[in-house]
Amino acid sequence: MSVTMPEKGRAWDELKKEMEERGAHDAKWREGKTAVYVFNAGPEVAKVQKEAYTMYMSENGLGPLAFPSLKQMEEEVISMALSLLHGPEGATGAITSGGTDSITMALKTARDYARASGRAKTKANIVLPRSAHPAFEKAAHMMDIEVRRVAINETSYEADPAAMKKVIDADTVMMVGSAPNFPHGIIDPIAELGKVAAEKGVWLHVDACVGGYFAPFARMNGVDVPPFDFEVPAVHSMSADLHKYGYAAKGASSVLFRSAELYQYMPFDTDDWSGARMITPTLAGTRPGGAIAAAWAVMNFLGVEGYKEKQGAVCATRAKIQEGVKKLGFEILGDPKLGLLAFRHPEVNAYALWGKLLERGWFTSITTEPPSLHLMLSPFHAEVADQYLADIEAGMAEIRAGNAGEKREARYS
Ligand SMILES: *Cc1c(COP(=O)(O)O)cnc(C)c1O
Repeated sequence: MSVTMPEKGRAWDELKKEMEERGAHDAKWREGKTAVYVFNAGPEVAKVQKEAYTMYMSENGLGPLAFPSLKQMEEEVISMALSLLHGPEGATGAITSGGTDSITMALKTARDYARASGRAKTKANIVLPRSAHPAFEKAAHMMDIEVRRVAINETSYEADPAAMKKVIDADTVMMVGSAPNFPHGIIDPIAELGKVAAEKGVWLHVDACVGGYFAPFARMNGVDVPPFDFEVPAVHSMSADLHKYGYAAKGASSVLFRSAELYQYMPFDTDDWSGARMITPTLAGTRPGGAIAAAWAVMNFLGVEGYKEKQGAVCATRAKIQEGVKKLGFEILGDPKLGLLAFRHPEVNAYALWGKLLERGWFTSITTEPPSLHLMLSPFHAEVADQYLADIEAGMAEIRAGNAGEKREARYS
């Protein structure tokens, strides 16, 4: 071990300075040059996040009796979420630590529900489009559930309901649609998936991690968003991340269920140990009060009007970038309607161009099928879209001049 704990504690002033220096080498998201990992809704929202988080940072959502404040905030956040996503009377849910937590809990709930209904007694499986998030894969791995990925439509980049239908069997505990998927930013045909789910009697989960707090406002702004939420009767559960386009502090997502009857399979309740009975709704034991409080505060701070304005700005930036890259000869993958898009060029290698953008300080994502540049936009990007387009053009010129730069591998962490 090269670092051991200091024998004597160090002064906070000194530590704070060191931390600031360390951060100097991180992605420059405050300048708007990051279009993955961070959602920048501007300084006013950041202030609310920070102060609300700090107010409740020591409180623990594990103890609703001790902290009725957090319980009430969680209930109100879930109620607001359900009202945006056509939750019917009796729909319910919980705040989790993030999308992966929401997805894991939804899958666990679906599996236990299936077992209680006599399905998948031995081996369970999940049927999902190729474009669905790896969190499903991770959750399935933890629960020893078989993953059945199904190819998506090659021109629309939407899930293929007919192909998914073919691989569903009596051991299928869940089928998945995304609203939107991450790699292409495309909303799957949830109504069509719903028909398959209803016919096969299978649980349908909509992964709206990155669209749940975006699509309803895009629709209010006049964007033609197809039915994707509890409006589709076969949708059993949804995941929607507060710490993405909900603009909440990190560590907050929501997992939602059509009814308490479905939800009942989620909480874990045990008294089989030396301590007292413990009931936990989600994967976490201790639940950070700050994350719950910040989500509640930001939602109330922005209100419907605030979100409409922010998501409208994101859609406008996306349209501007779409136009700009089309002029440079790029093809947009499918018809993105929300805050994400991917685009590819018939001649210029996407990974090489991604590297050129990285050299210019842009931290963005990449899509591999097909190799494309990828952006997840924030309100702040309105201010840097022109710069981004100029940097793409400059990067393309370098590559065309024979300077492709070092070979890049597309991966996270
Ligand atoms: C971000 C994301 C997830 C996972 O959420 P985390 O908060 O990163 O765990 C799942 N699905 C989609 C579509 C996402 O964009």
